[in-house]
Amino acid sequence: MKNIKCSIIEDLLPLYIDQVTSPDSNELVENHLASCSDCQKEYKTLSDSYYIPKETNTDAFQEINNKLKKKKIKTVLSTMIISFLLMLSALLLIFGYQIPIQYNDISISVEQKDHELWSTYSGPDFVSVKVSRPVDVEIEGKKEKILLVYYAKTIGYSFIYDHLENTNFNLSKNEDVDAVYYGDFDKKNLSEEAIKTAINKGKLIWKKK
Ligand SMILES: [Zn+2]
Repeated sequence: MKNIKCSIIEDLLPLYIDQVTSPDSNELVENHLASCSDCQKEYKTLSDSYYIPKETNTDAFQEINNKLKKKKIKTVLSTMIISFLLMLSALLLIFGYQIPIQYNDISISVEQKDHELWSTYSGPDFVSVKVSRPVDVEIEGKKEKILLVYYAKTIGYSFIYDHLENTNFNLSKNEDVDAVYYGDFDKKNLSEEAIKTAINKGKLIWKKK
């Protein structure tokens, strides 16, 4: 069999690699390959570059299929996660973000009871009451110690709950306050200027007699 020409084997190799050759041809090719290093090289090059075995072929399809499936699952998962995060941040915004309730929407009065200051509130349901510490401020040439207060709601709570009537809240245990103003303020900035701005925008709701 050794006298078979290399060119014949070269012609057969692609078919052999594709596994469409007859058992006789297979034997011919294999015997030749065993003794011819040139054709071995050719065989190796061909198998490395072109050869996709049939089994592997289906495997490859399966693999692509699996990859596509995985990709689909990934897409679905990330869509779900993103939707969930969006919903979560919407909920946080709706139920977490506190906005001051405007003075015009409420009715509020402050009373001194046993050296403490109490507010009586009627208005939209609130989630918290913001009270500043007593701050010194000069009003019309007079030094005064004032409190700033506002009731805060969230968009969400306003949907769930509606109206509160005459709710009491302890504003201060300190009798040493001259006036209470209702209005938005920034707890982190209680400089005299910020306070004055808040007072000007706010409403005087109690003054020491
Ligand atoms: Zn050969």
